[in-house]
Amino acid sequence: MKQKISEIMNRVSEAASSCSRKPEKIRIVAVTKTVPAEKIREAAASGISVIGESYIQEARNKYDLLYGTPVSWHFIGHLQTNKAKYAIKMFDLIHSVDSVKLAEELDIQAKKINKVQNILIQVNIGREETKSGINEEDVPDFIKEAVRFQNISVKGLMVIPPFFDDPEIVRPYFSSLFRLQGKLRNSLASDGIKNVSMGELSMGMSGDFEVAIEEGSTLVRIGTAIFGERK
Ligand SMILES: *Cc1c(COP(=O)(O)O)cnc(C)c1O
Repeated sequence: MKQKISEIMNRVSEAASSCSRKPEKIRIVAVTKTVPAEKIREAAASGISVIGESYIQEARNKYDLLYGTPVSWHFIGHLQTNKAKYAIKMFDLIHSVDSVKLAEELDIQAKKINKVQNILIQVNIGREETKSGINEEDVPDFIKEAVRFQNISVKGLMVIPPFFDDPEIVRPYFSSLFRLQGKLRNSLASDGIKNVSMGELSMGMSGDFEVAIEEGSTLVRIGTAIFGERK
């Protein structure tokens, strides 16, 4: 695993350098769904500092086992409102906020434990019926609502594009998210909104993270390329 992780780190650095970006601006989120706690410990010992979980119950099971392991926990799966209270306790960043209702519940739960919860807005760039995420044109309205929530802090955007074998076919989805980031930055500045920032772009997985980096990703979510195929 150490070998695989160092290969991924090198590929991230090379992709960054190839487009004159600073490699340290890109964080690897090691996606650990179905990966047992002892493997996560091994990954942490091999240089992984951020892990991404997709299911609340699975994360809760592993969270206690991994007490003391120096990793930051990110949530990348679909979050049901009734699980918000558990998510707040574990995760430093929730990538997948896809409704005002969920943001509101996260705000309520975060307030209870005096936390400001960092979140990303999941955008449904492909306008896929089956996929969660806020449609691109509705993101400004989401932000207008979200500024009311004092215990959540928007840090950027996330996308899960449709699956294609060829990363070049995925590229336009990444560049759309990048363009949206730019537009939102401008309007935040002109509206004087300060507690929403657009610094993070969560995009790119095992098959396409290099293309995502070329298109501006700051968080690449990599599972299979580190831990092997999931059962
Ligand atoms: C599982 C998952 C990943 C990781 O996918 P790989 O192809 O294994 O790298 C990334 N993002 C999300 C949202 C996932 O659910």
